[in-house]
Amino acid sequence: MDNCIFCKIINGEIPSATIYENDEFKVILDRFPGNIGHALILPKKHYANIFEIDEETAGRLFKLAVKVAKHIKETLNIEALNIVQNNGELAGQTVNHFHLHLIPRYTDDKVSVKWEQLELTDEQIAEVQKKLNMQ
Ligand code: 5GP
Ligand code: ZN
Repeated sequence: MDNCIFCKIINGEIPSATIYENDEFKVILDRFPGNIGHALILPKKHYANIFEIDEETAGRLFKLAVKVAKHIKETLNIEALNIVQNNGELAGQTVNHFHLHLIPRYTDDKVSVKWEQLELTDEQIAEVQKKLNMQ
């Protein structure tokens, strides 16, 4: 992908603070982090978002996320961490190359992963359940 910042990072055109890489994935520090230790896991192959990535690659990526999260926990001595993964502009995705955010949490930090909760009736929930039922 010609104009993708993360593809450029992966092929070495743009420098990055890499903390781990293997044949398939690269783990870098976010250049504009929400907190110290905010890391990004990128597949080396370009997938725009979760709607493009295949289940097998995503599975291996999440397996790596468990390792990285435990490593960050041990190394930075933190107790809490958010995993965030945005898909589409409306969802806040700014780089259209699939990536997982690992954001360590500290007391009184400025990170917010929150939404206003809707007050739905049981009937409304049942309607959505019917629509989305996958079985
Ligand atoms: P998104 O908003 O797409 O979920 O996340 C994109 C992330 O990429 C942001 O957190 C942003 O700070 C990070 N980012 C943008 N440009 C660069 C860059 O050149 N290098 C690195 N390491 N991170 C970047
Ligand atoms: Zn890319």
